[in-house]
Amino acid sequence: MDWFWKALGGKAGRNQKRSKAIVDQAREQQEQLSTLDDAALAQRARDLVEGGEVKDPATFLAALGVASTRTLGLTPFPVQSQAVLRLIEGDVIQMATGEGKTLVGAMAATGFGLMGKRVHSITVNDYLARRDAEWMRPLVEFFGLKVAAVHEELDEAQRREAYAADIIYAPVNEIGFDLLRDRQVTDRSLMVQQHADVALVDEADSVLVDEALVPLVLAGSQPGAAPAGQITDIVRHLREKEHYEMDDDRRNVFLTPKGADRVAGQLGITALYDEEHVGSTLVQVNLALHAKALLIRDVHYLVRDGKVQLIDASRGRVADLQRWPDGLQSAVEAKEGLDVTEGGKILDSITLQALMTRYPMVCGMTGTAVEATDQLRQFYDLGISVIERNRPLQRFDEADRIYATMKEKNRAIIEEIKAIHATGQPVLVGTQDVAESEALAEALEGIEVSVLNAKNDAEEARIIAEAGDLGRVTVSTQMAGRGTDIRLGGADEADHEAVVELGGLAVIGTARHRSSRLDNQLRGRAGRQGDPGLALFFVSLEDDVVVSGGSGEEITAHPDEQGLIQTGRVTEFINHCQRVTEGQLLEIHAQTWKYNKLLADQRVIIDERRDNLLDSERAWEQLAELAPGRAAELADLEHAAKVGAAREIMLFHLDQEWSEHLGLMDDVRESIHLRAIARETPIDEYHRIAVREFKELAQRAVDKSVDTFETVLIDAAGAHLGNLGLARPSATWTYMVSDNPLAGRGNSVISGIGNIFH
Ligand code: ADP
Ligand code: MG
Repeated sequence: MDWFWKALGGKAGRNQKRSKAIVDQAREQQEQLSTLDDAALAQRARDLVEGGEVKDPATFLAALGVASTRTLGLTPFPVQSQAVLRLIEGDVIQMATGEGKTLVGAMAATGFGLMGKRVHSITVNDYLARRDAEWMRPLVEFFGLKVAAVHEELDEAQRREAYAADIIYAPVNEIGFDLLRDRQVTDRSLMVQQHADVALVDEADSVLVDEALVPLVLAGSQPGAAPAGQITDIVRHLREKEHYEMDDDRRNVFLTPKGADRVAGQLGITALYDEEHVGSTLVQVNLALHAKALLIRDVHYLVRDGKVQLIDASRGRVADLQRWPDGLQSAVEAKEGLDVTEGGKILDSITLQALMTRYPMVCGMTGTAVEATDQLRQFYDLGISVIERNRPLQRFDEADRIYATMKEKNRAIIEEIKAIHATGQPVLVGTQDVAESEALAEALEGIEVSVLNAKNDAEEARIIAEAGDLGRVTVSTQMAGRGTDIRLGGADEADHEAVVELGGLAVIGTARHRSSRLDNQLRGRAGRQGDPGLALFFVSLEDDVVVSGGSGEEITAHPDEQGLIQTGRVTEFINHCQRVTEGQLLEIHAQTWKYNKLLADQRVIIDERRDNLLDSERAWEQLAELAPGRAAELADLEHAAKVGAAREIMLFHLDQEWSEHLGLMDDVRESIHLRAIARETPIDEYHRIAVREFKELAQRAVDKSVDTFETVLIDAAGAHLGNLGLARPSATWTYMVSDNPLAGRGNSVISGIGNIFH
């Protein structure tokens, strides 16, 4: 395979060379373009586009650069121009933190806009969508293009207006939720989104890899299925090791044969794994067991005001919009003796990966793309271009400090933070989860510590912006405050020189992550734009990554007088463990995607049918053909009313059948996972059922539509579906299912469940 990768590398290399040549030419053009007035410059750029293609990339790039200087006061560095070209060609660019990706993204988006393409510029949160849209607005508008931000606070009309812009900054979940809601409308004018040609993704690895399998869900009011109270009680009394066992990394829990017998006995059934119980009772038992054994109060959730509130481990705060999959949420409520909330009926759902693959073109930017090469290629067919730094890196990366036990490691971390802090050098500590952040802040008594678990992203951004100030100690979980620049000497850089003297920002990682990419993201917080800086990781043999990745392998080492065991051999062992966990994550991703991919493909077929019903008179034609008698009775009605009524009926049943299909396939997935114990090949079985069920879906929707058409009252106001109890849910809501295997100890515990459910 070597030649293959080399060939690919060669191609990327050639592309980069060509881009560099264009950047050089562009620099020569800038002076001449600078003499043009604004209108002439904008017109010049527009004139360079012919049939959606750019005729002269160098001049085009120069025009974008000159416009940036005029409108934003930022003259792009050559490396930034290079990055713009690579983006426009559809790559994911790797560019370090602080190198100015916001400008690069906006220039590329503007370029696409000039080519007549609509761009979704995807950010990781609402705060950054608004910030970037406002910041980059003058550049986009310079060329007569429109820019907008979509965020949580917009109402429907505002969303519709925003999505009509040329460049739309939005967090990925808002885009997904809007898509899900749009797929429920019965009249195209009620949709808020319009076709987009390009997704330009900031923090691309986070969206495309880490969060790729997070399902966005649209639910409607309907009573849900919780484990029966009896099951919760039975499971409550089961004992670990005897009745159930957990994986080493506590991601999955299984009944032992003895446990299964006990549950069956107490329920008065013969065997839990019988076909008749697999779909219902066993699923409920399994949910109750997950809730009991794997989800720990105050670590994974809080109980507040009689409600279960999820803690988002990676961001470290209560996640308002997140729920576990319905049955599990109810199971935890039952475990805590709370009122079991009405579950929603899942109307539709989509994973971020399925959402992203809908775009004709995807490109993106991140500080850490290279380590995600396999995933980006395998799942999105994306190439990577590494962009050099504008100024050489001045950060010093120390060798990991490795200890035998967590206890020794924690003591050393505290000592190190105190020692650095005593000099006045700012310290940013990256922890694995909220609990650790808080414990650490407490252990640093006497030092003022900013812990990033703010209520909103804007506040988080404010705190992180000050992390480089003299004497600061900031403790943060994985990606908190991402997207915000950390300037030395504080946001106003008042003490810049003093902090430079002290060696810049010191970043401390309290453990290696399950992926080296996440380690590098943390390191990247220090040493921006040629600043001095320091990065240092602490590791113990009891860490998550070592336990999961070492899978029982033992390594003996002799501590020196400080308790350190960092020999070359131990360091290599730690790296080996991390490579193993990286492999595991890729495997989980690939496996889980196999389940999702089929449903995503089926959804595309439903979408086509839906579009067809929305945009044509097909619904009426079909129903009139299948039920001519009923059609004749409606002869007096206006044509438009008849078409509208038929459309509403057919879309109702199509959507309903799809929702049922999703529910069914969810159940199949759970029971199939359980049947895997009986050594069947789950994915093949799952595919077989999905294909079989889907074949009948469309016909069933048509049959039901004919039934409804023949019985429902139809008048000038349309079809009165509510009379037959066929109304769409009166209320819908959206949420993300918390399922992020990368999110460190906190969330990884439930990723086993995520894998079953989605
Ligand atoms: P990144 O997203 O790559 O981490 P940002 O887009 O947040 O970086 O930019 C970091 C900082 O660099 C910002 O303060 C921005 O104003 C500044 N910056 C970007 N491009 C330039 C430029 N060409 N000249 C001067 N400053 C720049
Ligand atoms: Mg950024």
